[in-house]
Amino acid sequence: MKGVMRLKLAKKKRIALIAHDRMKKDLIEWVEFNKGTLSRHELYATGTTGTLIEERTNLKVHKFKSGPLGGDQQIGAKIAEGEIDILIFFWDPLEPLAHDVDIKALIRLATVYNIPVAINRSTADFLISSPLFESEYEKIQPDYETQLRERIMKVVGEVKHSD
Ligand code: PGA
Repeated sequence: MKGVMRLKLAKKKRIALIAHDRMKKDLIEWVEFNKGTLSRHELYATGTTGTLIEERTNLKVHKFKSGPLGGDQQIGAKIAEGEIDILIFFWDPLEPLAHDVDIKALIRLATVYNIPVAINRSTADFLISSPLFESEYEKIQPDYETQLRERIMKVVGEVKHSD
């Protein structure tokens, strides 16, 4: 298929976990319940969420900054670099937060790079019980590199013609 890229995801997934304060209890309970499965994967999290997960479950978590201090954007950057496979993001639907724009940006990047995202507990349940969660998977996404090269050629052509 032209214009798309196929990326091989390994059995062991790189999973980012984030929960806003009022949703943290939900996420911790979900992680505790699924500890066995999650222990076979690589876990990443924003600062406070990651610290709580480590304390409550003893799972090893790569921790970024706290969300409001840039942690969401750090995870977004990892997604853009192709280094996160799954996002579990229990965001708070009832409270406006200072870093709302970062939250929107993170969800946007997850969509751009065709990342599976769970925004609440039942979606997370469906995701973790999928056979794909622990098997190899070929992910299809638009070929942004080729699109970028084509755009550069087009802009270079337009600049030359305007000389
Ligand atoms: P936290 O960040 O895990 O450091 O609380 C989450 C967020 O608010 O995005």
